[in-house]
Amino acid sequence: MVSSSIEHLVRDNIRSMKAYSSARSLYTRGILLDANESPYEAPIPNQNASLNRYPDGSNRELREYLGSLFHQEDKNLALGNGSDEIIDLLVRIFCQPLKDKILILPPTFGMYRVAAQMNQVDIIEVENQPDILLENRPLPLSLPVQEILERSKDSVKIIFICNPNNPTGSTFRREDILNLVKESECLVVVDEAYGDFMDEPGFSNEIHHFPNLVILKTFSKAFGLAGIRLGVAIAPEEIIELIQKVKLPYNINILTSQIILRNRIHMEFVNDNVKLILKNKTMLEAELKKIKGVKAVIPSQSNFLLVRFNESDKVFSELVKKGFIVRKVDSKYGLENCLRISVGNESENQGLIDVLNTLENN
Ligand SMILES: *Cc1c(COP(=O)(O)O)cnc(C)c1O
Repeated sequence: MVSSSIEHLVRDNIRSMKAYSSARSLYTRGILLDANESPYEAPIPNQNASLNRYPDGSNRELREYLGSLFHQEDKNLALGNGSDEIIDLLVRIFCQPLKDKILILPPTFGMYRVAAQMNQVDIIEVENQPDILLENRPLPLSLPVQEILERSKDSVKIIFICNPNNPTGSTFRREDILNLVKESECLVVVDEAYGDFMDEPGFSNEIHHFPNLVILKTFSKAFGLAGIRLGVAIAPEEIIELIQKVKLPYNINILTSQIILRNRIHMEFVNDNVKLILKNKTMLEAELKKIKGVKAVIPSQSNFLLVRFNESDKVFSELVKKGFIVRKVDSKYGLENCLRISVGNESENQGLIDVLNTLENN
C-alpha cells in the first residue's frame, strides 16, 4: 500500500465522530456504581443449547413470550441486541443521511447522538431545563411541547424522549408527552430503560392510539440481565415490520434467547429488587445530603442519583482510588461538577458514603 494508513478510506463522519465511551470499557473492576445495572444477579442456572444451528431469525417464540410479559401482542414487539441497537435501527430506518434530523433534550442519554452521527444525521437540541438541577424541583417536569413542535419542523424525523431521563433521573409530565405524540408529525421514541423504577405507568399501551409512538424497554437495568444484551421496541405493527426488515438476520443469539425461554422472567424477583433498590436509594439520598461537599442531590425516579459536588473531579478520583466507580457526567449540558451514582446494594452504598465522609474530614 502506498500510504501507511487507511485513514483516508474511512467515511468523513466516522473519522470525526467521538465514540460512545461505555462504562464497562472504562472500568471492569471495583464497586461498580457507574452503569445503572442491578446490583442483584438474576437467578439463572447454567445453560446448554445446541449452538450448531442459527437461531430463529424472527425470534417468534421469544417475541411471543415477551409479548405476554409486557402485555402486548408479539406483532407489536421487535428485539434488539440491547435497546442501543434499536436506537440505531430507528435512525437508519427513518433518517436520510445529510438531510433529516433527530431532536433530543440535553442533558440526556448519549447513544441518541452517537447513532445520529454514525448515520450522518444532524441533531437538534432543545436545552429545556437550565434549572433542572434545582434540588427541590418536584417531578414530573413539564416538557416544552410548543418549542419541540416548532423546532422539529426543521427536517426532524425522530424525537427522543428519555423517561425517566438518564442522567438526571427526572420524569416528564404524562399529558405533555401525550400531547407531543398527538401533535407531532415525527416519530416519538419514549425510552423507558428506567420505567420500572418510576411510580407511574409507562406508555406501552398508548401505541394502540398513535401510529408514531415507539417505546423502548431493556433487560439491562431492573431485570438484572445487562450481560445478555436484550432490548425491546414496543410499537404499532407498521413500525415493527420496518425494524424486522432492516435488522441483521440473527441479531439475538441463541444463548440470549434461551436464558429467557428456559428460565422465564420471574416478575416477583424483578419487583422485589426494584423495591429494594428504591429503598436503598432513599437511604443513599438521605446520607448524601448530609455530606458537606454535596451541593445538590437531584430528585430521581430511577435507580441512580445525579449529584452535584463542590469539586466533582476530586471526588471522582478519590473514589476510584478506593475502588468505587461512579459515572462522570460533568461535560454534559448543565451538569458541571456532577457525578451520576448508580444505587448499589446496602454495603456498597454504605462503603461509598464512608469514603465520601473521610474525604470531608481530611
Ligand atoms: C442503559 C440504557 C439503555 C440501553 O441499554 P441496552 O443495554 O442497550 O439495552 C437505553 N436507554 C437508556 C436511557 C439507558 O440508560
